[in-house]
Amino acid sequence: MLAALAVVAALQGAVEVPPPRELAPGVHLIAGARDPGRGPDGNTIVFEGRDGLVVVDTGRHVWHSDAILSFAQARARPIAAIVNTHWHLDHSSGNGRIKAAFPQARVYASNAIDRALAESGFLTRDLAQTGVYLADPSLTETDKEEVRIFIATMGERDTLRPDVAVFRSERRRIGGRRLDVRVTDGAVTDADIWLYDRRTRIAVLGDLVVFPVPYFETACPNRWRAALDEVWATPFELAVPGHGEPMTRDQFNVYRTAFGGLVDCVHAGAIAESCGESYSQTLAPLLTGDEARRQRVAAGVAYYVGFLRENGGKSPDCLAS
Ligand SMILES: [Zn+2]
Repeated sequence: MLAALAVVAALQGAVEVPPPRELAPGVHLIAGARDPGRGPDGNTIVFEGRDGLVVVDTGRHVWHSDAILSFAQARARPIAAIVNTHWHLDHSSGNGRIKAAFPQARVYASNAIDRALAESGFLTRDLAQTGVYLADPSLTETDKEEVRIFIATMGERDTLRPDVAVFRSERRRIGGRRLDVRVTDGAVTDADIWLYDRRTRIAVLGDLVVFPVPYFETACPNRWRAALDEVWATPFELAVPGHGEPMTRDQFNVYRTAFGGLVDCVHAGAIAESCGESYSQTLAPLLTGDEARRQRVAAGVAYYVGFLRENGGKSPDCLAS
């Protein structure tokens, strides 16, 4: 097992994380790198607080958590707190490595992770399938590495749970920095966190915004749409998505409009392909690339329309309406 982990670590050296970017004084983006064939890493935002750094989301891969730790080292500041926007493992797998380096760091998260880790929860069901995945001869070595990373994270699953469970929206001090902490009642998971920083007018949204196609695997789309409307109601100037580039208000509103249209289309019963088409047309002002990319976006959305309709317009793991 140790030998296998050493191989994984050596292979993981291959991916380069973009250098940190200061979005505003005291607010830094460590963007999730995208390596074809692998699962993504979510974006990380680091706030400089009076008691140390506040790290929002910790990525999936070693190279991403290493980039966070290098940032702390370069600034000679401790990591005082971790905030997980949601429990998806591309946003929380690095918790363990960060806490190993900074044992005093407190994890702020909703308790939705407890349901994902329960006996019939999403992550437990997925873990039960890993033997099947690894035995599949069509999997590449990279695919298998990704499965082993998941198994390793589940081996230390308690690092995914909050030290400070966040149940309600309120303004609170985290790591010595005041932030507006907002909790959704269903959205990407059955309770997500997003942040609004009044000082810089930056909103940190986790996967409420995934560009170009949202991940609906554990979603409550109606609640998600309502959460986007709540974000819109704040006077933010820059919105940081879970994946992709920071957005202006206008850009966010294009996404919000496309998302709302998609939810309507799921419920209206139009053919899935036409929901994908109209989503991609609405999103077109933000879509760089060629017509082939727009078509891939449309096809990705059409897939999710079918997935959501099989479960009455939401994912099977959505507890809300
Ligand atoms: Zn994500």
